[in-house]
Amino acid sequence: MLDHDSASPLDLSDTIVAVATAPGRGALAIVRLSGPRAHSIARATLDRWPDAARRVVVSPLRDASGAELDQVVVTRYDAPASYTGEDAVEFVTHGGSVVSATVSAALVARGARPAAPGEFTRRAVLNGKMDVLQAEATSDLVDARSRAAQSLALRQLDGGLSRRVLELRSQVVELEALIAYDIDFPEEDDGPIAPARIAAAADGVIGALERLLATSKTGELVRDGALVVLAGAPNVGKSSLFNALLGESRAIVTNIPGTTRDAIEAVIDTTDVPLRLVDTAGIREATDVVERLGVEVSGSYVARAAVVLACGDDDDSMRAIGTGLLGRTNAPVLAVRTKSDLAPVSDGALESAKQVLGARAAIAVSAERGDGLSELVDLIQSVIAGDAVADLDAPILTRERHRFAIGRARDEVAEFLDRWRHGDVPAPVAAVHLHDAVAALEELIGVVDVEHVLDEVFRRFCVGK
Ligand code: GDP
Repeated sequence: MLDHDSASPLDLSDTIVAVATAPGRGALAIVRLSGPRAHSIARATLDRWPDAARRVVVSPLRDASGAELDQVVVTRYDAPASYTGEDAVEFVTHGGSVVSATVSAALVARGARPAAPGEFTRRAVLNGKMDVLQAEATSDLVDARSRAAQSLALRQLDGGLSRRVLELRSQVVELEALIAYDIDFPEEDDGPIAPARIAAAADGVIGALERLLATSKTGELVRDGALVVLAGAPNVGKSSLFNALLGESRAIVTNIPGTTRDAIEAVIDTTDVPLRLVDTAGIREATDVVERLGVEVSGSYVARAAVVLACGDDDDSMRAIGTGLLGRTNAPVLAVRTKSDLAPVSDGALESAKQVLGARAAIAVSAERGDGLSELVDLIQSVIAGDAVADLDAPILTRERHRFAIGRARDEVAEFLDRWRHGDVPAPVAAVHLHDAVAALEELIGVVDVEHVLDEVFRRFCVGK
């Protein structure tokens, strides 16, 4: 945490350094240096120095005693043309845990300070190289667990969402201007702005904010993946199905009832929305403490699921999971009749499983033979797409922070419209709500109250980014 009593560790006058690559064995590592003294600090450690910005040289890099630490590739950036907007230097060193650490330590010995998590990107924001939404996208790109999350982050990094939020902001500002005109010139010959025009403008903004708000469910699904929970009594074949769907052995398959003690999760990255497949302990009356723990885990997963795969290997176990799920989830349920290789599953059996579970659909699968698996994945995806469709090419809200800000802006404009229509307060008082709506949108991008927003955004960043 920050110690506000000492000099702020986030002082922009510091020159900061960090190893930007993940620790561990690898061919290369990158050490980043940025700040007012980046060039002089770098030069103090190097035998050769690039003679212009964006030039690259290979040079020995030495510690203060003159001992060589590595042969590095040095790239020089001159402010403002760098990631941070400051003078900066990137050193490509050899990989492994020692070399990059000693290079970084040599730069610290020459006057640089180890960077805080996300501090390079924070500086990029403070120097106007990107806004807060783009900074978040940078972090999302690093954390992307699927190709859909990757392309969503890339579009946000490109400023798609920022542009949309700015458009909405101008719409609210225009509305404010209409009201201001109304307030400033109430006695003009032209008369005030037609009330219908103001109401229509406010309605338009509310609608636009609501449409953006409606994308947040999709955004979170794409970023985090849709939780797909396998539920069913022990031994019906959940772990086998989990493994078969993943195409590799991640869960321990066993025929002793109740041995899948805890949840195991894996991500299937096949389409727009990645699937977070979770194998849980069977839902049934717990008989011992460990099993009870497992059951509780499955209960909480089932409650949060985007789709529940209710598994059973015969009519009885299908009914059992139907009872087990009662009242535990609002998510769409798919009835999955397992082990279809052992005995053919009739259409009637599937239909009755669907009825018993109140399921969207029923399907027979065999983990053993691989029958029905791709159909099951398609079914899961169509259920999710049906439930959360937002155009993935349009701007999408991906975080709670976004939803909160857009929701607040929507509420404020609605409140304005309500008060203005009723005329129970003077127009300037009603217009305060528009001002608050603008503030909410500006905070989302990071135009105002930047430090506070940045603290929140960069809390979970990695060092060196
Ligand atoms: P879980 O307790 O629901 O996770 O069930 P498991 O996946 O551990 O499977 C229980 C038993 O059923 C194991 O002996 C598996 O080999 C067997 N089993 C699972 N899936 C199939 C299948 O598709 N066909 C056949 N014939 N046996 C299966």
